[in-house]
Amino acid sequence: MPELPEVETVRRGLIPYVLGSTIQRAMVHRGFGRMIKDSSVKAFRETVEGTQIEELKRHGKYLIFRLSNGRSWIVHLRMTGAFLVSSGHHPRDRYERARIKITSPSYTPEVVLVFNDVRRFGTWECVPTEHETDRIPSGPDALAIHFTRDDLLGKLRSKDTSLKSALLDQAVVAGLGNIYVDEACFLAGIRPDRKTKNLSAQEVQRLYDAIGTTLNRALEQGGTSFRNYVNAFGIPGGALSHCQVYQRDGEYCRICDSTILKIKHAGRGTHYCPVCQD
Ligand SMILES: [Zn+2]
Repeated sequence: MPELPEVETVRRGLIPYVLGSTIQRAMVHRGFGRMIKDSSVKAFRETVEGTQIEELKRHGKYLIFRLSNGRSWIVHLRMTGAFLVSSGHHPRDRYERARIKITSPSYTPEVVLVFNDVRRFGTWECVPTEHETDRIPSGPDALAIHFTRDDLLGKLRSKDTSLKSALLDQAVVAGLGNIYVDEACFLAGIRPDRKTKNLSAQEVQRLYDAIGTTLNRALEQGGTSFRNYVNAFGIPGGALSHCQVYQRDGEYCRICDSTILKIKHAGRGTHYCPVCQD
């Protein structure tokens, strides 16, 4: 599933095309109307067509297009959703669910945003911008300036759960999923199945630093492609080969040569080094 670095990579790819552009047509292909939450396809189209995209924001794993009519078009890519920037001549492939035609004074001819989604879990919705925060996770974005070590410490101390569960909880911090939780725990040297309330302030400091480092490194690599994530131009990210533990069970730890283990924890495959993490 795309996590913060993948969604941010998509956002950065879309920005030069969508900012200031006008949505001419929003076509959701027949049979895929369910991806639009709490609205019909017709109502969605009527809301977005003819509006300008004034901002493209991201919160955690959500993309938020702020429109000139005071609405926010909120997209969650879920497992396999992908936006591709293309020309109007882009042929429709079997996983295409929708396409948005946009025009802008800064380029000609029109650009098409193709929305592909193999697994069909991606969601779109349109809400008044003042209600945007009701629809996105309450936790701060993991790369936001207001996400602080003290904020993380307070939340972890107040929970009676494991570190892995806590970091997957988007009300604690938004943007992390299975890959980057495992990677951040490794970088911090803390086992993901530790109880959060037993973590020392120093450990939380290491964890906080590790979250930022892990996400920023992955962003530099254009995100992690596991299964079928691609950026806005159809190009996979290069961060998987840089993972230290994720999907490396049975392989040697690059730091200590021990064998990376995989356990089932918090309902998820969880990878860690038994020597580097305690
Ligand atoms: Zn190790």
